[in-house]
Amino acid sequence: MKNELYRKIPKVDILLENPIIIDLIEENSRELVVDSIRKEIKKLRKFIEDTDSVIEGEGQIKALIEHIMENLKEVQSYNMTPVINATGTILHTNLGRAPLGKKQLEHICEISGGYSNLEYNIEAGCRGARYDHFEKLLCELTGAEAAMAVNNNAAAVMLILNSLGREKEIIVSRGELVEVGGKFRIPDVMDLSRGKLVEVGTTNKTHFSDYEEAITDETAILMKVHTSNYRILGFTETVSIEELSKLGKERNIPVVEDLGSGVLLDLSKFGISYEPTVQDSIKAGADVVCFSGDKLLGGPQAGIIVGKKKYIEAMRKNQMTRALRIDKFTAAALEGVLTEYKSQENAIKNIPILQMISLTAQELKIRAINLVTALEKSINLSVKLIECKSQIGGGSMPLERLDSYGVSVKANHMSTSAFEKLLRGQEVPIIARIENDEVIFDVRTLNTCQMETLVKQLKEI
Ligand SMILES: *Cc1c(COP(=O)(O)O)cnc(C)c1O
Repeated sequence: MKNELYRKIPKVDILLENPIIIDLIEENSRELVVDSIRKEIKKLRKFIEDTDSVIEGEGQIKALIEHIMENLKEVQSYNMTPVINATGTILHTNLGRAPLGKKQLEHICEISGGYSNLEYNIEAGCRGARYDHFEKLLCELTGAEAAMAVNNNAAAVMLILNSLGREKEIIVSRGELVEVGGKFRIPDVMDLSRGKLVEVGTTNKTHFSDYEEAITDETAILMKVHTSNYRILGFTETVSIEELSKLGKERNIPVVEDLGSGVLLDLSKFGISYEPTVQDSIKAGADVVCFSGDKLLGGPQAGIIVGKKKYIEAMRKNQMTRALRIDKFTAAALEGVLTEYKSQENAIKNIPILQMISLTAQELKIRAINLVTALEKSINLSVKLIECKSQIGGGSMPLERLDSYGVSVKANHMSTSAFEKLLRGQEVPIIARIENDEVIFDVRTLNTCQMETLVKQLKEI
């Protein structure tokens, strides 16, 4: 009986003459199609070996072409996939932090799809610098003399410390010895950069005199680190960047600030507390300031460094820069995103994370009502409108919550955790929070197109 089934399996040469397979070869490649045929025939033989049912065996033989098509699709599919972020966390580190806007993406495509003037000065006909495309913009926006960018802010901190503080002392407050995600710890980075960490003050209080008294002939940097992802509350004292800059000037020691997020505009009008901007730090007298490209700036992953020309030049000359430099995708994206900042209105309109932050509760309520209406028709779901709180995320502004609206969804005949898993298993995976045994979709992080996909997928469940 099994031999009969085995005999019914079409031979590879025969399959290669099948019109569907011929089309597949045309659309894909002969190599891949033959591979898929071999793999599926092998699976089929194994199936027949294990089964006792002739009907099932025949069923599988009939489905062979279909399985070949599926296999072919699978081997060519990417593992990286867009997801729908329904968590309301705007800078979700695991979901890629800041999404880029349409205009910036078009610029990246145009620049990276062909040759460009990445390091070529067209006017002079000679070599240029990859920072030329956005240095002037950064200087105009922040008030700094010079600027550059590296792979990420962790790299920026390393480069600054290594360029200005190698084999010398770097003074930092004990209240600012931060660990950001991925075990990036300021003391370890100092070590790697071959700077000598000099801790001053205590966890909750550091005075001006602590810095003053720690300065020696070996002091190379007075450093301030933004405590991005935590807050020390209560009996506390820190020295402002302004005061620290005065001390640095007096003693002729550069003052460096790691700002973490790097905000370029006043976000307090959107109902979150004022976050000091890069221009504030420069105005206060900081010599070098670094920040991330993909946190509150809303751009690509990058570590942006702005400050005094002589220090930026020292960093550009450092051999480490060759290993940490940004690529053309990032340079194009940075130019794109920084150009938007020339006008606040454009920045808020065209930079997705700023757009999401600026949404009012009223606008979000309308979105959420639309989503409820679209989902209500599904008989398998119980949905209701809810008020909720969105977060900034990405280790920025840990205490801030933005008033938002969302939809709470319960699947009938299914546990909440099974439903959440099902959502993750969709073609465009839906990532959502669970609260009080209900799945919550916060609409702040969903644009119109993603809402439509979400609804379509939920209707098909
Ligand atoms: C996030 C952060 C960093 C690291 O920035 P990446 O761009 O993620 O490398 C460094 N310092 C501070 C204070 C931060 O908040």
